[in-house]
Amino acid sequence: MNKEMLTMRMKGYALTTYGRELKELNNKERYTVFSKALMEDILPKWKASEEKFEGKKKAYYLSAEFLMGRALSNNLINLGYMSEVKEMLSSMGMDYNALEEAESDAGLGNGGLGRLAACFLDSGATMNYSLTGYGIRYNYGIFEQKFVEGYQVEEGDKWLEHGDSWSIRRQDEKVVVDFKDQSVYAVPYDTPVVGFSGETINTLRLWQSEAITEFNFTAFNNQMYDKAVKEKNDAENISKVLYPNDSMESGKILRLKQQYFFVSASLQDLIRTYKKDHKDFTEFSRLHAVQLNDTHPAVAIPELIRLLGKEGVSFKNAFDIAVDTFAYTNHTILKEALEQWSVKLYKKILPEVYAIIVKIDNMLSRQLADKGLTEKEISEFEIISEGNIKMAWLSIYGTHSVNGVAQLHTNILKDTELSGWYNLFPERFNNKTNGITQRRWLLESNPELSAFITELLGHDGWITELSELSKLKKFAEDDTIIERFMRIKKAKKLELKEYIKEREGIEIDENSIYDIQIKRLHEYKRQLLNAFHILYLYNRLKTDKNFDMEPRTFIFGAKAAPGYARAKAIIKFINEIAEVVNNDADINGKIKVVFVENYGVSYAQKLFPAADISEQISTAGKEASGTGNMKFMLNGAPTIGTFDGANVEIVEEAGLENNYIFGLTVEEIEELKAVYDPKAELEKNPVLKSIVNTLIDGTLDLAPEENFKELHDSLIKGASWHDPDNYFIIRDFDAYVEAQERVNEDYKNQLEFYRKGFLNMASAGKFSSDRTIVEYANEIWNIPSITEEDEESLAV
Ligand SMILES: *Cc1c(COP(=O)(O)O)cnc(C)c1O
Repeated sequence: MNKEMLTMRMKGYALTTYGRELKELNNKERYTVFSKALMEDILPKWKASEEKFEGKKKAYYLSAEFLMGRALSNNLINLGYMSEVKEMLSSMGMDYNALEEAESDAGLGNGGLGRLAACFLDSGATMNYSLTGYGIRYNYGIFEQKFVEGYQVEEGDKWLEHGDSWSIRRQDEKVVVDFKDQSVYAVPYDTPVVGFSGETINTLRLWQSEAITEFNFTAFNNQMYDKAVKEKNDAENISKVLYPNDSMESGKILRLKQQYFFVSASLQDLIRTYKKDHKDFTEFSRLHAVQLNDTHPAVAIPELIRLLGKEGVSFKNAFDIAVDTFAYTNHTILKEALEQWSVKLYKKILPEVYAIIVKIDNMLSRQLADKGLTEKEISEFEIISEGNIKMAWLSIYGTHSVNGVAQLHTNILKDTELSGWYNLFPERFNNKTNGITQRRWLLESNPELSAFITELLGHDGWITELSELSKLKKFAEDDTIIERFMRIKKAKKLELKEYIKEREGIEIDENSIYDIQIKRLHEYKRQLLNAFHILYLYNRLKTDKNFDMEPRTFIFGAKAAPGYARAKAIIKFINEIAEVVNNDADINGKIKVVFVENYGVSYAQKLFPAADISEQISTAGKEASGTGNMKFMLNGAPTIGTFDGANVEIVEEAGLENNYIFGLTVEEIEELKAVYDPKAELEKNPVLKSIVNTLIDGTLDLAPEENFKELHDSLIKGASWHDPDNYFIIRDFDAYVEAQERVNEDYKNQLEFYRKGFLNMASAGKFSSDRTIVEYANEIWNIPSITEEDEESLAV
């Protein structure tokens, strides 16, 4: 890094952007000029990296969500500039942390699915693959969450308010996307994805929707002002805002337009580039691997066939190219989250695409009939059924690979949810257990633990080869090592305490157990079970003088989809519990409850390193993988959780004895389902009954709300599409309390407790997204990893 050059550029941007001297700028402005100056450094390397992959097979990740968070620290770390930059800025009288905090999160995703896409991009570049992300440049990302009297209130996320220095508008590469009733430009904004060591720099290309004709002069002249800008507004609406739904189907016209918009633009982009060097499409699938992140981009299958048809390729050939090009990742087992679109809507918005889906469906039926399936059997596989298009069915039939995201999840897909399809195409099904990037979730978030790991190993190879961590297991016997690990954890807990004091205005006890549940709010994730346990402890402290417990701080972070009333009621309920518990002098501060506002990637980076215990308590069989569980583990926190998703593999790696596993298994739930009677169970469990009753009886002065009544009904009577206690909170409660008691007991011997945490960290190697991405590259995409060295040796 050239400091003089960087300073000179910053001064230049200060003048040309703000018309002021560098030293006169506020933190936001300083951040902006600094990131612009850094972009000048990145650009030539970015171009060189692109050249390295010319003519090679490349992978593309189509995703409606990229939950990137901040870029500055990540870029500095991956470029190897961090320590120099900190020095340089401080010599100029600037505080790096203030600059860092000035960056808005790029929150273009809801939760795990979008964050996975972001981790994959980081790993793809670090492992030296050409992996391009394609998505939507939402003007507003995931909403900003506020609490007003304990209720969630949503506000627009103005992440672009101060500009975005990391992206470059590529006006020259815009394409037209046609709907039946509208045509728009898709304008690409490219952001560099810097791999660790800066050797490979890939691209995240996000499309922004704009009008073909911005302004209708004649209408304006005739004083029809709304009409004059109508086309502009209609076009811009398409990429205006991220749908804040997480695993909930949403059947909105705008959502369909969003999906088709970015998919069509991305495929047009690929075809245009390909045509520069090719006369026909026989080489297309040999050069492109396109991964569909869930079914949101599934319209890519008929759209590629449609676009190839316009280039003169027959339907049959185009279908084969699509199957060879595309692969599909399934992210959910929840039935209500399996995407379907009404035929009516498709016909109205995308008639040409719909006609191709019909052809695909007919071909499938013929193929199945040839295999000797009966008409009734064939109907099970129909893509178009009862007026709806089943996007998962389309995604299985139109691709060569279908993967689940953890072993348990993949098994459930094969054995139950998709067993029919599995029997039809067994070779297509495979597992790719999710991962997280250790660059962001350890190196950047927890520099103290990172330095300690490097010291113990004698090298920092874990940064790109996380399995190195297993060599730390031998240190677990050494109490002085565990004591140092403990001191780091305490330091991170103190940092979080200060951050929470500043952000939430709540004082927490740094010597208490930090018990953290941070993830989207959903019934299946069972934040309510956690809340009931808090009430259980509170009641015992209030009523039983002999009851003692280690002090605990329960920390929650979660956004609820704005239309998901029951999830919002759970937020309100937990905030009410916090209000009561935090202000009750009787319990001597033994329990504190904090629901942090506006949980997102940057907040997450402060929470994971400070956790003593990781809450992963979903109903078994419902959480496809989870990745939050991996972030806790990597930062040395044991899991209290069910045998669900990747928890199973976490325990496999770190040992049952170092985690707190409880509750029904998938098999037990399958058996119990038909006979489960939560009301009867509650009658036998007066302790739990009184806790559940706090939802409706006013004992806790929770201001009996209509919403709480509905929540109560959902447990006892079943409400809307639900069976009573659909997520087995009542049945799992006692087992959860018992597991929490084990945590409490174990924490009395802190050395032993933190030894478990240390061993979790040392066992986290498998959960690097580097490992996941190498599996995708080798087993699905068939793409090469190319370093500069490879290039040079080829040139010789
Ligand atoms: C990792 C992450 C998630 C996913 O958490 P799960 O516990 O796996 O659901 C969601 N949101 C953010 C901000 C994350 O960093």
